[in-house]
Amino acid sequence: MASQVAQSRIYNFSAGPAVMPVEVLQRIQEEIVCLPGAGASILEISHRSQEFIAIHEHAKERLRRLLKLKDSHEVLFLQGGARLQFSMIPMNLLRGNPQAAQYIVTGSWGKSALEEARKEGAVEVVFDGKSTNYDRLPEVKGLALNAEAAYVHVTSNETIQGIQFAEDLEVAAPLVCDSSSDFLYRPYDMEKYDLMYACAQKNAGPAGVTVVLIRKQLLEKSADDLPGYLSYKNHAEADSMWNTPPTFAVYALGLVAEWLEESIGGLENMYAINRQKASLLYSVLDEYPDFYIGHAQTKDRSLMNVTFRFATEAAEKGFLLGARENGMDSLKGHRSVGGIRASIYNAMPIDGVQALAQFMKDFAQKNA
Ligand SMILES: *Cc1c(COP(=O)(O)O)cnc(C)c1O
Repeated sequence: MASQVAQSRIYNFSAGPAVMPVEVLQRIQEEIVCLPGAGASILEISHRSQEFIAIHEHAKERLRRLLKLKDSHEVLFLQGGARLQFSMIPMNLLRGNPQAAQYIVTGSWGKSALEEARKEGAVEVVFDGKSTNYDRLPEVKGLALNAEAAYVHVTSNETIQGIQFAEDLEVAAPLVCDSSSDFLYRPYDMEKYDLMYACAQKNAGPAGVTVVLIRKQLLEKSADDLPGYLSYKNHAEADSMWNTPPTFAVYALGLVAEWLEESIGGLENMYAINRQKASLLYSVLDEYPDFYIGHAQTKDRSLMNVTFRFATEAAEKGFLLGARENGMDSLKGHRSVGGIRASIYNAMPIDGVQALAQFMKDFAQKNA
């Protein structure tokens, strides 16, 4: 019965909330009525219970192991999505700071982060890719970065435009990185990051929890007069239990981290799989460059969100319809870029990407 339900799943290319590993969903299905040892569901137990505290610790521990995260950083599980971080970051790190924060704006999300920061203090835009419709990344070495800046904010993967920094950035000021749509897609040198944040619902689990990895030294910068929920220091002191945490989302995030470790074999392996998946699609774009018009400059292509469009609206409609008939859905691009966006996060099986690549070849041969 369960496997029949699993078999009726489509290949879901949604940008977020997005595909989750089937193994994780099946584990949740098994445990949803009664969490082993708890006598009740994860949805029903206190966040102060021994059972939930074990789940919470398990999720933190798994993330620490995957990321090789040292004791220098705190792991926080917060709510309010990545968007609340757009505000919390400047509230905690910019308010009262004599130095401006610097923003590298490479797409829609970076722009939204900047707009929120402006409400809190002085910000400087050191790069804005708007003039080329956010199709490329800057050479970070060439930017006018200030070593004394309150922090430098960057978006590692622009989900809407489909451009992604392939490597960890090296900056002198505290580095703050929005990794919402590529969190855990590869190993990182976490020493380079002072604050990394990611909502879970793209690459790490269901909606409801946002992971914040913050260097402990930065916690001291949070002003004591901030509203309680908005203070990183407060959350760190309360071990992310200052208020009721999103218990189910934390549980599911922990299972995804466990899946990455046990089934995939860690972030090196995940990275190899992600490169392989993305190259299946980009090689079709390169084979039919006049038919599939890629949005991203080749060097900056995202391994997570593959964006392209057609010369005509009719081709786009036909593509979406044909894809749906072949069991692939949620491929329509964001309205600001148009065209198609195939989100191929960690949990998208390679079979799904192969099916899409084959469909793209067939569609081009018929219609190009
Ligand atoms: C989705 C996304 C966000 C917004 O996340 P919410 O949880 O909806 O607030 C921010 N940044 C990036 C890069 C995203 O992909």
